[in-house]
Amino acid sequence: MNDNINCRQNTAAQAEQETITTDTIKEESPDWDVNKKLRYSRQVILKQIGYEGQTKLLNSKVLVVGAGGLGCPILTYLAGAGVGTIGIVDFDTIGISNLNRQVLFGTDDVGKKKVDVAQEALLKLNPDVKIIKYPIRINVDNAEEIIQDYDVIVDALDNIPSRYVVSDCCYFLKKPLVTGGAMESYGIVRTILPNKSPCFRCLMPFPPKDGVLQTCSDVGVFGMVTGIIGSVQAMEVVKIIVGFGKLLDDRIIHFDGSTLKWNEIRLEKSERCPLCGKNPTITELVQYEVKCKIKGLD
Ligand SMILES: [Zn+2]
Repeated sequence: MNDNINCRQNTAAQAEQETITTDTIKEESPDWDVNKKLRYSRQVILKQIGYEGQTKLLNSKVLVVGAGGLGCPILTYLAGAGVGTIGIVDFDTIGISNLNRQVLFGTDDVGKKKVDVAQEALLKLNPDVKIIKYPIRINVDNAEEIIQDYDVIVDALDNIPSRYVVSDCCYFLKKPLVTGGAMESYGIVRTILPNKSPCFRCLMPFPPKDGVLQTCSDVGVFGMVTGIIGSVQAMEVVKIIVGFGKLLDDRIIHFDGSTLKWNEIRLEKSERCPLCGKNPTITELVQYEVKCKIKGLD
C-alpha cells in the first residue's frame, strides 16, 4: 500500500517536473510540438546546449564507421541526442560473440546484418532521426563518396587498414574525425580537427608489419570498456557540433578499466609525417593489408 502511494507521489512529482521544465523553456522555444520539447528537454536546459545547440544537433549529419562494441553506444547516444542524420557503415552480420558489448543487438538477431538491426533499434529510440545504411566495407573506392556527405566522422573500427582509409580521407576532405579503440581493459580516444590537430599518421606514420597486431578476438575485451570509450566518442561529437568544451584535438586519452585511471598524452604535428608533414609522400588513399597475430574466433 505504502509502495503504491510512494509510486503515485513519484509519478506526480515527475509529471510536475516535466511541466516545470517545458514551462521554463517555453519562452524562447522554437515551433516544436510538445513531444519534441519533452524529448530534448534535459539537453535544452543545459547551458552548453540550449535551443540553439539542439537545433544544431537536429540539423547535423554524423557518419559512424563500424557498428560494433564502440559503434553501438556511439549510435545510441547520438540518436538519443537528436543528431538529425546518422550514417552507419558496417558490412558485417551479428555473431553471438558480439553480444557481450554490442548493446544494440540481442540473441535473436544473430546472423542478421548489423546495419539493419541497428537502424530498427535506433528508430525505436528516436523516430525523428534519419538513418542511412551502408552495408559495405569502407575502402579506397567508396570512402570519399560516403564521407563527403557528413559533418563529423566517427571511427569505431576494429581494423587498422580501414582506419588509415578513413583518417586519410578525413584529412583530404577536411572533416573532423573522432577516433577510438578498445582492447582488454584499455581504451583510447582522440579527436582530429582539420587544419589544426596532428593527423592520424603523425602518431602512426604507417601500419605495423604483419603478425604484430592483436585484435579483440585474439585477446578479448570488457564490454564495459567499449561502452565507456564509445560514450566519450559520442560526447566529443556533440561538443564538435554544438561548439563547447575542450576537445581532445591535441591529445590522446587512455583509459584503464582495471585501475579506473585516465591518462593523457599531448600530441604534436610531425614535420616528417608522410601525410601532413613538410614533404608528404601520401597523396591519395592507400589500401593496406595487415594480417593480425592470431586467427580470431570471430
Ligand atoms: Zn600528420
